[in-house]
Amino acid sequence: MTRFDHFINGEWIPSKDYAENRNPSDLRDVIGEYAQGGVDEIAAAIDAAQQAFPVWSQYAPGERASVLRRIAEGITAREAELADMLSREEGKTLVEATGEVRRAAATFEYYAADLLRSRGETFDGLGRGTSIETDRRPLGVVGIITPWNYPIAIPAWKTAPALAYGNTVVIKPADLTPGTCWLLAEIISHSGLPRGAFNLVMGKGSTVGALLCDSPAVRGITFTGSTAVGRSVAASAIRNGMKKVQLELGGKNPLLVMDDADLDLGVAAACDGAFGSTGQRCTASSRLIVHEAVREEFTKRLVERLKGIVVGDSRSPGTTMGPVASQTQLQQDLDYVALGQEEGGRLVFGGETMSGGEGYFMQPTLFTDTGNDWRINQEEIFGPIASIISAGSYSEALGLSNSVAYGLSAGIVTRSLARARDFAAKSEAGIITINRSTAVTDLHVPFGGVKASSYGSREQGTSARDFFTTTTTVYTLAGEV
Ligand code: NAD
Repeated sequence: MTRFDHFINGEWIPSKDYAENRNPSDLRDVIGEYAQGGVDEIAAAIDAAQQAFPVWSQYAPGERASVLRRIAEGITAREAELADMLSREEGKTLVEATGEVRRAAATFEYYAADLLRSRGETFDGLGRGTSIETDRRPLGVVGIITPWNYPIAIPAWKTAPALAYGNTVVIKPADLTPGTCWLLAEIISHSGLPRGAFNLVMGKGSTVGALLCDSPAVRGITFTGSTAVGRSVAASAIRNGMKKVQLELGGKNPLLVMDDADLDLGVAAACDGAFGSTGQRCTASSRLIVHEAVREEFTKRLVERLKGIVVGDSRSPGTTMGPVASQTQLQQDLDYVALGQEEGGRLVFGGETMSGGEGYFMQPTLFTDTGNDWRINQEEIFGPIASIISAGSYSEALGLSNSVAYGLSAGIVTRSLARARDFAAKSEAGIITINRSTAVTDLHVPFGGVKASSYGSREQGTSARDFFTTTTTVYTLAGEV
């Protein structure tokens, strides 16, 4: 069995413990054994990143851009291998996995290009003869903690801006899907980055992740994962050295389908939003809030579409929905199906596991006649399960959509410009989509939510600079000549 080690201070470092990484499409397939870090590995990685900081942060922007471009080229050159690994360990279809790998390459390209933009601003001072300039400085060592559902896109969209703006990195990928991030680390190891500027320590969140948050030497933590873990990450990060913290958390995203909607568009947006990537997306449209006037027709067309979804081995051509990523997640999905029935929901499609394979296969699942305040409509399920909630008017639908603790993305399908603009103004979400799936995330624009979905500055695009740098303000009083 192949063993995969940590990458610390420019070297591959073995561990005392290793954990198996298994393919959720075929549990007989063990991908490899991945190192499980602890106190020693995290301390060595943070130390290496601290040593590398004065070196890497002094590289000129053009030199840093060249390194980032080489990483992008490395990802592109190994696109098929990365997509195969992603699909094999996480269960996304090969088409979805390839899209995610391309996005990771494009993210490194984007931040290489962003380094060519100006870094600060100048101002006239309020007093005579004073000029003021601002400058952006890197934070220092940044800790990156990522979830299992985007094993390369999220490591890329955190690592690329961290390195671009001169920080050094210790990354801890999700213990369920370390393989794709390990390959990314291997690509980075050939990029010309100085030793210690990027370190990978794999293992459990409760040990490796928690130790990273606890260390005062780490100056920023960027975390994506569940809201519950995010709360403890933020508390520890602030308690231990007042670190800067960025959290991207869960969602319970509404898609409104109004009586004036193009229903084909509505069904396509619901299907992609709720069942794309097996519903395992923070931006998934798990609440479908549908106007009573079109509810019956919408439900009929959506069910027809669900019948066409081909669930199977993520790497088989023809599969359009891969497996659920783990036994724990599958059990959670099934528990919520049972709960939805207990709460009084009508199961109109799916709800069961699928036999015939050695993986965690589950049918796409749709409930109707559900109440917005039920637990299945308030708690993040994170599986291929959606509920239809009826609304008698646009304003009722808007009220329902906002009645939830989360606020990541929210969409509306309507032909009315007035309703679309009103929704954009009043929806309590960080990402608002009009006539599109709630799961769109272009890489060059801000990404993040409100309420229990996010904390700290936005990710991606030009916003990333706000988190990964700190602003200094320099006042100069020019003397007489
Ligand atoms: P999780 O919170 O269980 O784990 C996320 C990461 O945190 C993992 O690497 C884990 O090992 C680590 N971790 C666990 N306990 C820790 C601790 N005490 N201290 C430090 N780190 C710890 O989440 P998950 O199950 O991997 O991912 C699913 C969740 O992620 C969902 O809630 C989903 O909505 C969310 N998510 C959010 C976004 C977003 O951008 N908003 C994107 C993708 C996923």
